[in-house]
Amino acid sequence: MSKKQKNQKKDDELDDLVNHILSSEPAKPNNECGEKKCHQKTSLMGFSCAYCQRKFCMKHRLPETHSTACEEKAKSASRASYKQDSMRIITEEKKKPGSTYAPGGSSESKSRKNLEQRLKSKLNEHQKQRSSQK
Ligand SMILES: [Zn+2]
Ligand SMILES: [Zn+2]
Repeated sequence: MSKKQKNQKKDDELDDLVNHILSSEPAKPNNECGEKKCHQKTSLMGFSCAYCQRKFCMKHRLPETHSTACEEKAKSASRASYKQDSMRIITEEKKKPGSTYAPGGSSESKSRKNLEQRLKSKLNEHQKQRSSQK
């Protein structure tokens, strides 16, 4: 009798340990929704949260549906991006008063070409280094 009780106690401790591990670490497989009670598979349709880096199903993809912490982050982030957006719109309007979107020839495409060239030369350098090492 007493032996049985002892074993049960050990099991309880084990359960505690397991619960502790489960609660501190996401023990779910990667292809399941990150929401605790949700078992929706995300292998076909998964949305990863930008704030907690976990994958969620359609229903829980929004930060406010899976975590209040993420909700808060999303709120402050959207506020910041909204500010940026309105700023950008204002500066664009200032640059091109009255005109509609002018395609090409902007300083943006120029700097992009520059960036591409720098990237290419850098890649070439790396390739040279690699071939010389071999
Ligand atoms: Zn999240
Ligand atoms: Zn879900």
